[in-house]
Amino acid sequence: MQSRRVPSSIGYLPILRKGDLLFNLVMLRRALTGARAWSQCAIDVFGLPWNRSRHLFGCNAHWVATRVFANGLSARDVLVFHTLFGIYRHAASNATISRYVAKQVGSSRRTAFNGDGLCHPAARYLRSCRQCIEGDYASRGFPTWRVIHQIATLDRCPEHGDALVNEWPPAGDMRNRTWPFFLPGESTCCHPLTPADAMPTSDGYAAYLKLWSRLVRDDLAVVQPARWFAFVQRLVSRFGDRGEAASVLEEAILHNWGLPALAIGRLLHLAGGPSFVLQELMLRTRPRNLARRLVVYAAAQSLGIDEEPAAQLPLTLPPRTDPAFKYEPHGWAALWSVVTDHGMPLVLASALRDGGTVRNIAHRTGTDPGRLGAFIARFPNELLFALRQLQPWSEDSWLSRELERRRRQASSSPESRPEECESLGDI
Ligand SMILES: [Zn+2]
Repeated sequence: MQSRRVPSSIGYLPILRKGDLLFNLVMLRRALTGARAWSQCAIDVFGLPWNRSRHLFGCNAHWVATRVFANGLSARDVLVFHTLFGIYRHAASNATISRYVAKQVGSSRRTAFNGDGLCHPAARYLRSCRQCIEGDYASRGFPTWRVIHQIATLDRCPEHGDALVNEWPPAGDMRNRTWPFFLPGESTCCHPLTPADAMPTSDGYAAYLKLWSRLVRDDLAVVQPARWFAFVQRLVSRFGDRGEAASVLEEAILHNWGLPALAIGRLLHLAGGPSFVLQELMLRTRPRNLARRLVVYAAAQSLGIDEEPAAQLPLTLPPRTDPAFKYEPHGWAALWSVVTDHGMPLVLASALRDGGTVRNIAHRTGTDPGRLGAFIARFPNELLFALRQLQPWSEDSWLSRELERRRRQASSSPESRPEECESLGDI
């Protein structure tokens, strides 16, 4: 498991607080070692040469845990406490989280956050809050970059409500994501968001920021896949249909924020364009759409709609207790698990159940047909067999075609074992 590059621990580094970005260690390392080059400090901390075009928010968790934290912190905790993964994991299933952590721990290569629909890219520049900086100086003598401030869909500090300050890169390549080698407040070329760019304060925005604070405190389970599914179903049934629910919520958003949903989506960089509320109600939502869930949830709360009291127990409800999934546990429930475990849009679970071609389902769920086809191609045979038993499937349905593809592949592959051909031919 341990990379060959991992040498002994690099020794004492000031302990980061929970929620401090891993990237701080490069600056702290340099402060401790004096004149060493930044790039060497980046290698010391991350184990790889400095590359400006790559993000620095979650690479080599095992390497960092071993070398920098000297096993005082597990690789999983490094990711949870010091990278954006710690934020977006709240909207992912436990299996997605485990898979992501295993990937990060088991490989010495950097893994993109987006593979499992887990994370939205960080804000373009590192950002900080002036009050947080002052608090840091007062409490420990140096300020740090916070993970929560780097979320692209936030432009104010959830704790203080202040507009975040962008730090310009020290040398000017504006196209690439570049990160300045400063702790917050140390650079002389910072750029506060101009009033025209910053989201105006409002009751709606205050409620949205409050939800982010709850999320960071691990106190907002409604965004977990199974709970979000149930909550959206409740919203839709409350108003009769998705279109009606969307227009009521958008009206509440306009009232609470003083801005139409269209403008909020643009200012907060929410994916999904002007209809992001409808996208959520259609369950075209992945963990990286966490911010959209918070906007919708805040609007629903303002209308007096919340989670069912029963669902607020501190228990993760297994999907099959959900009314929509009271089916044979190895069939539909397994399909739900596969969809959520890979961070795919939640609507896929029901769209796949309805049959149709890959192209048709991709269109209905807002996914790319190629990626959907590749996703289906990874379904285990047992799952396809189980689903096949549950209802009649047309010949051009995704299921029939995928089984046919596997049967042809198995019979044409010289390495395929006879029993495999037999079982697939039996379909
Ligand atoms: Zn702050």
